[in-house]
Order: sequence, then structure tokens, then C-alpha cells
Amino acid sequence: DVNPSVSPHGSALGMWANKQWGDTASYVAKKKLQSWYQTSDGNWELAKILSTSGTESLISFSEGKVLKVNPDSLLAANPEILDGVDDLMQLSYLNEPSVLYNLQYRYDRDMIYSKAGPVLVAINPFKKIPLYGSDYIQAYKSKSTDSPHVYAITDTAIREMIRDEVNQSIVISGESGAGKTETAKIAMQYLAALGGGSGIEYEILKTNPILEAFGNAKTSRNNNSSRFGKLIEIHFSETGKISGAQIQTFLLEKSRVVQCTEGERSYHSFYQLCAGAPPHLREKLDLLDVHEYKYLQQSTCYTIDGVDDAEQFRVVVEALDAVHVSKENQENAFAMLAAVLWLGNVTFSIIDNENHVEPVIDEALLKVAELIGCKADDLKLALSTRKMKVNNDIIVQKQTLAQAIDTRDALAKSIYSCLFDWLVEQINKSLAVGKRRTGRSISILDIYGFESFDVNSFEQFCINYANERLQQHFNRHLFKLEQEEYIQDGIDWAKVEFEDNQDCLNLFEKKPLGLMTLLDEESTFPNGTDMTFAAKLKQHLKSNSCFRGERGKAFTVHHYAGEVMYDTSGFLEKNRDLLHLDSIQLLSSCTCELPQAFASNMLSLSEKPAPGPLHKSGGADSQKLSVITKFKGQLFQLMQRLESTTPHFIRCIKPNNSQSPGIYHQGLVLQQLRCCGVLEVVRISRSGFPTRMSHQKFARRYGFLLLEHVASQDPLSVSVAILHQFDILPEMYQIGYTKLFFRTGQIGKLEDTRNRTL
Ligand code: ADP
Ligand code: MG
Repeated sequence: DVNPSVSPHGSALGMWANKQWGDTASYVAKKKLQSWYQTSDGNWELAKILSTSGTESLISFSEGKVLKVNPDSLLAANPEILDGVDDLMQLSYLNEPSVLYNLQYRYDRDMIYSKAGPVLVAINPFKKIPLYGSDYIQAYKSKSTDSPHVYAITDTAIREMIRDEVNQSIVISGESGAGKTETAKIAMQYLAALGGGSGIEYEILKTNPILEAFGNAKTSRNNNSSRFGKLIEIHFSETGKISGAQIQTFLLEKSRVVQCTEGERSYHSFYQLCAGAPPHLREKLDLLDVHEYKYLQQSTCYTIDGVDDAEQFRVVVEALDAVHVSKENQENAFAMLAAVLWLGNVTFSIIDNENHVEPVIDEALLKVAELIGCKADDLKLALSTRKMKVNNDIIVQKQTLAQAIDTRDALAKSIYSCLFDWLVEQINKSLAVGKRRTGRSISILDIYGFESFDVNSFEQFCINYANERLQQHFNRHLFKLEQEEYIQDGIDWAKVEFEDNQDCLNLFEKKPLGLMTLLDEESTFPNGTDMTFAAKLKQHLKSNSCFRGERGKAFTVHHYAGEVMYDTSGFLEKNRDLLHLDSIQLLSSCTCELPQAFASNMLSLSEKPAPGPLHKSGGADSQKLSVITKFKGQLFQLMQRLESTTPHFIRCIKPNNSQSPGIYHQGLVLQQLRCCGVLEVVRISRSGFPTRMSHQKFARRYGFLLLEHVASQDPLSVSVAILHQFDILPEMYQIGYTKLFFRTGQIGKLEDTRNRTL
């Protein structure tokens, strides 16, 4: 009965079913267990096996329908006592329908949190649920409840930080719209409730509306989608009070500032400013209505259901006050937003018969010049010409319309992303930890999840690479944890093999022939194009098992979470992310404080010696690290930081694509469980000895089933007698110092007998 059978339901399930003990089709059919049958729409339904003969089982559904099916298509369902268990590891029969059913059972009852072994699974409710606030915080603090919750995992982090004197991290992942940012806020809420002094905890919470205003936007998947990654490190004093915090952000999506897909919006901050600026500011910045700015006109979506941008503006101002950004600086920041919007309205006219252009001197150009504090003529020059270094001479080149638009948009993107970085810097100054570092902290990571769209570009390339790195961290850690518990209880443990993603990481990182190096190399070639880049990849990487060349400019990467086809269009340009020196010089010549600060930041970055071939590129452009190289550096740093902490993982799941409450789409949930590795974690955790019960509990629960009297009544002797009576095979369990460890499905048999006997 324990021979593994190959499941007909696709490879992931097949792989899983193979790892089962006592979950094979023949076992299910023979024992007439409650079972799962997959209907033609892909959903699983509970069925009772009436009879089985050879290759045919007769099954009946609760509504009375009876069906003849192949027993191989059935999977064991769990006994009812296991309905809605807190932890998926407690399921006797572990298969996809059982996991889906268990999570749905809980979700239907607003229990959106479950454990998958050590991982917290959170399913987005898309509605307010009464699980938060001070009463709940108190309950978790006093340990009067232990049902899975963000509070519980945060509480564990705090306790372990204090007990072990080790920094902790809470790593949140999941698709866009799955609830990562909300989850991060809920964790911050719990931490803030520990208090600090001088209102630092209040300030920490106030960073959220600011970062969301400037770094979030409405996308097709999430009305409040974060377009940057974030790590917030919260520091504690010896007495466990918050002493400060620090925020690090990763790779803001700049392209959104100047281009936006229909149905989506640019960053919230623009709409908030236009809707909510008080009269004096409106006048000072010459604000127009959102509909009159070309950057915002690219999508006809200007508002979000249920969101009042004007009210949000006030919330952001209050938050800026809280983190001590002066009124003057706030107005400077808003002026930069207005400048970006006006830049989008700058137009060009042709000035010669070679199609060279110059910006039209109109309201838009004059406003931009006024808002950033430069002469209109200087702005005009920066937008219409480009200084080039040829040998030792500087020549001035006029620009075509396409070049001028690129220059204009690059300037807008740079101003916006510099503004974002500047805001983070201001926040960090306000939250700064005092001189006396205690070295204790809890970091919360809210980074964009794995993305796979119809068309995937450079942004997805970076995001998915980050997820590969995080996945490796996740795998490594979960194995280590598992091993430690076995060792602690004196269990022999054969190392479990798992599919690691090193090959895919190598594909990205290997030198000199990896995706990143090849991208950087091509980005430095003056004649490099997206097409030549794609060709190089195909030439050098075709033998790599994680890589596949596609027709034209595309290539496919076999990621941990699935295959993604990337379109190389725009890769080189986005990776170079050039802002012409002319534009930087313009900013540094401005009389306003912020543009100057932005320029000196950019110059200091470009002065750093850039390793590798990038440094050798010609022209008078700023020399700087490529976007991917900088991102990789940030990620390595992040990984190092995470490695020095005890991690706690939260995986957020999006139950439907319409952002609606009460809808649980099995296929969608399953895809995410597979994609983010939840199924694997449970499988991994269980392919050892996942079910644990203390000697006492085991003896109490099943002792009465013993047919023969046991001489010694101590829990261990009773337990051993039960194991013998039920013929539990020696390889199916291990006896630890305090607990019994079982493989999957063993307790299920005992439970079945117990239920029949009771
Ligand atoms: P992500 O950061 O993963 O893209 P968000 O955290 O922005 O997703 O969540 C998307 C939306 O889902 C939120 O704006 C909110 O409406 C809803 N949501 C997420 N988590 C919760 C929760 N715990 N309770 C209520 N609503 C939630
Ligand atoms: Mg988010």
C-alpha cells in the first residue's frame, strides 16, 4: 500500500503524490476513504467511494450524484476532525485539494491566516475583518490566543530577539495585490504597540502614507500597488522599547512617471497634490486640474473607487509633519511634483530641415524653469542639445524630436526618483537611532513578488531575479530549521533533497557569461541594441538548462516559480538609465535647493569608480553603475543582512483577480501556492517526520484502543504498544526524547480507528 503511484494530475502534483505515504490511489480506494475528485472545470469535489473493482470505482457526491471513475483519479480527503486545522502540517493526507479545501474552509470563516509549517499563509480578505486593534494585540501579547496571525509571528520575532539576542526579520512575499504591504503595516502596528518614547512609534507608522503616496500607484492588479521594494529595520532598546528605525528602498519603477497603461495611474502623489493642495500652494505652483497634464492623460483613469485624493493629501501632509519635514521642504517637494507634471506638457517644434527640434517657449516651459529655479533659456538648451566629447573636443549636437522627448522624459524620471530618495533620506534622519546602538532589531521586508505578464520587460527581469534570491534564502533557512528540531530531539534524520534554484541564479549572475554581465556589456557598446543583446544571449547561453532563446528579441527563463518569457525591448536603455550630463548640469545650476541636491547626489554617484567595462564608455554622459548592477549590489547587501537575522516568513495569497471579498478561486490560489513554494515547504517539512506528538498526548489519545494490557503504564511504554498494535512500520516513525515523530498519513489511520471506536 505504500508504493508511490504516479498521479495523473500534472507534474507538480505527481511529484508531491510520490512523496506520500499511505496516500496512494489504491490505498484510498481500498479503504473507502473520503476522497477528492477533480471535476472537468478543474475544481475538486468531495466524494464517497461506494465500491471499487479493478480499474473502476463508484463514487457518490453529497448532492446524490453517482459516478464511475478510475480510482487513480482519486486523492484521499482528511477526516472531518481535521477540517480547518491551523497548520497544514497537521493534515493526515497532504495533497493539493486537501490544502485548498483547508484554506478555503478557514477563509470562509474569516480565518485568513494559517500556518504551513513554519510559514504564515495570509489570504487577502479584500474587506475589513475584525482581527486587529488593541484587544487583539493584547491577546497575542499575553499569549491568551495562539491562532495564526501576523501578530503571532511578530510576537515570536520579538521574543526571539530578546531571548537569543539575535536580530530578526519578517520576510513578506506574494503576488501584486496579495496583501504584502497591508501585512507589513499590521506587523508594524504590533511593534509600535510596544511603545518607544518621544513618539517614535507614531513616526514609524506615519512613514507608510508618505511612501505609499510617492511610491504606490493604481495598477490593473492592485489599486494601491507598491512600485518599489522596502526594508524597514526597527531598532529596540535593551528594555524592548523602540529606539529608532531605518528604511531602505529598492528600485522604484521610474517609467511610470512618464508613461502609463490605460486603466492604471501614475503615482498617487500627483493626483493628491492636484486634488488637495490648499489655495496658496495651488497658486504658488500654478496647479492645473489633473486632466490637463499630458503625463497623466495617457490613461483615462484619474480617480480610484473609494479613495479621496484630496483627503489623502492632508493625510500625507500630516505624516510629513510627523517625521519632521519642515513646511518649507514640503513645499519644495510639491514644487518638484508640479515641475514634473509641467515637463510633460513641454512641446517641441522643428527648427531646420534636418528635423532638429527646440522646445516651444510656452507656459509649460516657463513654469518648469520657475519651479526648479533656472533660466528658461538654459532649460531650452538642455532639452534641445547634447554636448558630446569627441576626442578632446566638446561638440554640441542638436536633437531630433525623439531624442528631445527622451531627454525631457529622462529629466522628469530623474527628478521624481531623486525626490523619492530624498524623502526617504528625510524620513531616516527623523527616525535615526541615537548614538547608542543596542544591535537589536526587527526588519520587515515588503518586496515586489514574482511577476509574469503577457509581456515581461526589464522591470520583471529585476523583480524576478530578486525573487530567485529570496527563494534561495527561504529554502536554505527552512531546511536548517527542520534539521535543528530533529537534532534537538535526538532523531536520525536523512537529509532531504530539495530542488534548489542555484542553476537559475547562476544563469543570472555567472561571469563572464551570465544574463547580467551580458546585459551590462551590451549596454556599454555604442552600437548595442536590444536585438544584438538577444542574439548574444542565444549565442552564449543556449546550453544552460534554465535558458531558452525565443524568436526575435525574446528569451525565456525557467524560474523557480515558473517560466517567464522576456521581451528585450528597452532593456539596454532602461539598464543604462542615462541622464545626460547637460541635464545634471542644469539641475546643479538651479537656484532651488532640491534640484541642486539631486544633482550633487547624481554627480557623487557617478564619480565613484565604476567597475567593469561601463567606465570605459565614451561621451560626456554621466558615468555610473548600470541599473542591474546597482540592484544586484543592493540585493547582495540585503541578503547579507537577512542572513544575519532569524527570519520569519509570511506568504500572501490573492484569492481572486477582481479585488473582491468572499471569492475564493481555487485555480488561482493553487497557482500561487505552487508558485511561491508553499506546497513545497509543507512537503519538505513533512517528508521528514512532520507530525509530532508528545509521548503523553499520544498515550492519552490512543491508549484506550489497546487490546492487550500493557505492564508499564508510563506514556512511552503505552505509546510503543500502540505503535506495535497498529503495525506502524519502523520507517514511518521515530521516537524522540520528548515527542513521537511520524511521517505523513500515520496519524490518519489511528484517527480513523479512534473515530469508529468512540
Ligand atoms: P501588495 O502589497 O501585496 O501588492 P496590498 O497590501 O497593497 O498588496 O493589498 C492590496 C489590497 O488588498 C489593499 O489595498 C486592501 O484593500 C486589501 N487588503 C490586503 N490585506 C488586507 C487585510 N489584512 N485586511 C483587509 N484588506 C486587505
Ligand atoms: Mg505592496
